Amino acid sequence: MAWKWYDSTVVKIADESPTARRIWVELNASEEFTFEAGQFVTMDLPIDEKRLKRWRSYSIANAPNGEGLLEFCVLKLEGGAASRYFFEELELGATIRFKGPDGAFTLPDSLDKDLVLICTGTGVAPFRSMIGDIYRRNLPHRRIHLIFGTRYANGILYRDEFEQLRRDHPEFSYDVALSRETDLYPTQFPFPVYKGYIHQIYLQHYAESRPDVSFYLCGWSNMIDDAVANLIVKLGYDKSQVHYELYG
Ligand SMILES: Cc1cc2nc3c(=O)[nH]c(=O)nc-3n(C[C@H](O)[C@H](O)[C@H](O)COP(=O)(O)OP(=O)(O)OC[C@H]3O[C@@H](n4cnc5c(N)ncnc54)[C@H](O)[C@@H]3O)c2cc1C
Repeated sequence: MAWKWYDSTVVKIADESPTARRIWVELNASEEFTFEAGQFVTMDLPIDEKRLKRWRSYSIANAPNGEGLLEFCVLKLEGGAASRYFFEELELGATIRFKGPDGAFTLPDSLDKDLVLICTGTGVAPFRSMIGDIYRRNLPHRRIHLIFGTRYANGILYRDEFEQLRRDHPEFSYDVALSRETDLYPTQFPFPVYKGYIHQIYLQHYAESRPDVSFYLCGWSNMIDDAVANLIVKLGYDKSQVHYELYG
């Protein structure tokens, strides 16, 4: 099947942390692009002469809005070709060409289980889309627990938004783990913050295997491999309860 490629225009760029950037693109008015919360697109970036070496995938970080505006949240990876493009070359008005949407890392038809969303860094992108979708469409749901990990406090992505959701919705909880922060004063934060890796959080909260919870994991293989092993092997959750999107 021939892929359909879309041309979009960069309309806004904002640094979200020292190593993550939010990028908004707008599709041409004539383009019709629909996606499900949690899906990704594959961009053809001007970073190499060989076509396949130019392709990079990025999760859509906003909820579907029918307005042709997409947001991405990208990591600045030292030595990364796409990272260099996004952080050193990208300008407002640039064209970003992408195909998609792709991926089955989406919300289930019925949200009849507690959702535990576990991520590190820009792995939060599909969860921001899913959470936004749930509240935007007022979908019936149970508890939503977002567990976010990063190195330092200034790397907490979308912090204000998730703090606000936590205040507005008693069924939404938000825990953060900071792996490299040495001086951590938990009272600095209005939500629970842990020193170290994210694994301690779900190991503590979901120690007793329950059939009424679904885990969604997003990030890089070091985190995902450990979390899948912890949930299935250590805690005894069924494979069908654990879903993940691997960034690499
Ligand atoms: C389905 C999917 C969705 C994705 N969504 C996002 C997203 O929303 N936001 C986002 O920032 N990224 C996302 N990624 C990752 C993204 O596609 C790129 O891999 C990432 O931006 C690095 O590209 P680069 O060209 O900068 O680095 P490259 O030049 O491709 O890589 C440089 C080197 O770093 C290694 N590497 C790549 N990532 C890491 C890492 N995190 N830590 C350590 N080493 C690493 C590579 O294996 C390679 O050896 C997604 C990937 C997939 C498959």
